This record gives sequence, structure tokens and C-alpha cells, in this order.
Amino acid sequence: MRDIDSPEGTGAGTNGISSGGNNLLGALRETDFALIRGVLRRIDRPAGAVLYEPGEDVRTVYFPCAQAVVSFMVLLEDGRAVEIGLIGREGAVGGIVSQGRLPAYARAVVQIGGPLLRLDVGELDRAKAASPTLRNLFARYADCLLAQIFQSVACNAAHSIEQRTAKWLLAARDRTGEADLRLTQEQLAANLAVGRSYIGRVVQALRAAGAVETRRGRLRIGSPERLRELSCNCNDLVRRHFDDVLGGVYPNGNGHGGGLIVTNGPLFRP
Ligand SMILES: [Zn+2]
Repeated sequence: MRDIDSPEGTGAGTNGISSGGNNLLGALRETDFALIRGVLRRIDRPAGAVLYEPGEDVRTVYFPCAQAVVSFMVLLEDGRAVEIGLIGREGAVGGIVSQGRLPAYARAVVQIGGPLLRLDVGELDRAKAASPTLRNLFARYADCLLAQIFQSVACNAAHSIEQRTAKWLLAARDRTGEADLRLTQEQLAANLAVGRSYIGRVVQALRAAGAVETRRGRLRIGSPERLRELSCNCNDLVRRHFDDVLGGVYPNGNGHGGGLIVTNGPLFRP
């Protein structure tokens, strides 16, 4: 394992790029990382930035770093967008299994803004062709991502909104690993494909159960243990698969407060 979770700049190569807090890149061997280090570029994207729309050519692979989190959203014919996957520093978005530039199926949108490392899909293809171990790591990640999507399908079909809300908050906390996670109640409602008033009631129920705290428009995970009791176990099953297939890559959010800040006004009632 390389410099997983190291701050940007630590272990940097000649162009100043390191794995930048992306665990998947951090899991590459030094010699494999050297194949792409020179063509990785760091960018920052705010919440709401769209990386791909359905049908657009996927020309770029994005690696969320630090607290950045990206969602895959499937667009329905009535205009709704349903989240089917949350990708943070354990993974990558776009061009993982495909060769060349294929059209995106889902919208990829930044949920929680932060730094991303970007790489041209053709450069990743060249690196895969040059290194079986690099190719193997991305194949393993593709397997984990597929497992995550499988679990998401089952979760959406079988588990309650309350369980899914608790699961989403824990998944976001795991990935950001930060005390301050910025999202609006509207985002949370959209991610779970429910109305804002409904999600407000769910949050109040989580608060009454002692899992979260709300104060001045902030939502803080007061007790991850309590939240876990109220969540389905879908995160745990996905984590177990990651640990089996790509040990050490799935983030655990340990050592952080898990506070959530609401950015569009006092959406969570005190
Ligand atoms: Zn579930």
C-alpha cells in the first residue's frame, strides 16, 4: 500500500501529484502509479457539478479525493433522478472497465465538493495495457463497484426510507471522513427519491432516537453506533466485499466527528 490518506503533496512525484487522498490510487504499486502520475491533474469541483450526463462520451476518469463524493444518478422519464451509487475516495468514476470512449449511462454529479484527480480515459487504457497488476486492481475495483450497485438495487427494493437514510448518512460519513459534510435537505431527499417534508420527518425520528443532533441548521451524527442500529446492513455487506477484494481501500471514517452542515438555510429544525 502506498500513501493512502496522505494529504495532497505528500509522496508527490515530479509533477507534484500524489494519490492525493484517493485510496484506490493509493493501493497501486509505485511502479504502476508512475505510469499515470505524469498525466493526472488535480481539479476542484463544487457540489452540484455534473461530470457526465447520460449519453455523453466518457473521456475522463475522476478519482474523488479527501472529502469529495460523487453520485451516479439514473434519470427517470418523469424527470426524477434516483441515486444508485455513492463514490468517494475508495473509488473512481468513469472508464473503469470500458476500453475507449463509450457513452455514459447515468449522470455523475458531485454530491460533496472537493478535490478530484482526473485522467484521460486513453491514458488509463495505455496504463492497463502496460501493466497487468494495474489492470488487475481496476478489475477488482469494477467488481466491488458492481457489488455496490447490486446491493443498492436490493436496498432500494427491500429496505425502508428510514433504514436507507441512516445508511446514506453513514456511507457519506465513511467517505468524507470529516466533521463537516455539506449537503442540503433537498439533496438528501433527492438522493433517497422522497419528498423534502418526508425526509424532514425521518431526520426528526433519527434525532428522537439519539442517532443525530440538529442545531442551527446543522445535522451531526451524534452516535454512529445508534445510527448503525437504525440502518440496514447494506453498507456492511459492501464493505466486507471491498475488504475481501481490495483490502484497505474502503474508508472507515474513523477519528472524525461526522457532523453534517446544511448549506441552504435551517432545513433541519432545532
Ligand atoms: Zn439497505
